[in-house]
Amino acid sequence: MRIADILKSKQTFSYEIFPPKGDMSVVQATDVAERLMQNSPDWISVTFSAGGSGNSQNTVSVAKAIQASGKTQALAHLTCLGSSRADVDAYVEKIKAAGVQNVLALRGDRAPGRDVIDFEHASDLVAYLKQAGLCVGAACYPEGHLESSSPEADIEHLKAKVDAGADFLVTQLFFDNEDFYRFRDRCSRAHIKVPIVCGIMPFTSVQQIQRMAFTCGASIPAAVIKRLVAAGDSKQAQQDAGVAYACEQLVDLARNGVDGLHVYTMNRPSVANATHDRLLQAGYVEA
Ligand code: FAD
Repeated sequence: MRIADILKSKQTFSYEIFPPKGDMSVVQATDVAERLMQNSPDWISVTFSAGGSGNSQNTVSVAKAIQASGKTQALAHLTCLGSSRADVDAYVEKIKAAGVQNVLALRGDRAPGRDVIDFEHASDLVAYLKQAGLCVGAACYPEGHLESSSPEADIEHLKAKVDAGADFLVTQLFFDNEDFYRFRDRCSRAHIKVPIVCGIMPFTSVQQIQRMAFTCGASIPAAVIKRLVAAGDSKQAQQDAGVAYACEQLVDLARNGVDGLHVYTMNRPSVANATHDRLLQAGYVEA
């Protein structure tokens, strides 16, 4: 089923996982997905690591297992820096053969060896994947993308991505919902009318949140720092604070009628379950 069609009928709840990396096997990553499926998410997305340890075949293998379960939809990520048209064609062929109809079209971060071959911006990839008949999502940034010269330029480029055919958008993580509400208003003023799904990451430690702030540019509000200070040095207390904070964000977003809630699970079923249970308790997802 196409995610765009699911988004037409309800406020969605979904998860992101990453494919095997390091010592993790495909079986272990698939096991994580199976545990998340017990919460009946509308879809599970699987990240893509260009040239990294989790290669494209791993993304396809995990997405295929999710789709084959018959319990939910798989959303396979794909980045285009360093990829040729032939690479993208091969990927599309593989996901279609696996029954996956949904793809998240991304540029990928700049890195040595990831030059522009056939696709410069995500909008180029979106247009190409639309021609292949897929349901295509794209990324968006409530606080602006790190490379953007201005919020206006960011929205202009986002509009180009939607005009190229993106069926829905998924946000970068953010810790202050007001950033998202302001962004939603800017999108509306720019006539960006596709559904915008909110990506929320429960932080699990001081180190992890610092790393995220540097890699994706998300700002860390005082409210988050206060929670971490209160948690002290205990790793468990820091994780509990992060999960509690994410649950508050999710309930507030649900109450404010966002199109969808997407949890960056970092392959931790306990974190994923906690967010689902809180939304269930608040009446925003079904058992
Ligand atoms: P683009 O939309 O191409 O934008 C990148 C920059 O270029 C922006 O600053 C934009 O304003 C600018 N730009 C766009 N079009 C133009 C234009 N025509 N002219 C001039 N400037 C332009 N990375 C991975 O490697 N694997 C993943 O699985 C992955 N999943 C992600 C999932 C989500 C929900 C998000 C939000 C990000 C994800 N990323 C992933 C990270 C992403 O690859 C990076 O944020 C990357 O730097 C930008 O990707 P993009 O698709 O937003 O690029």
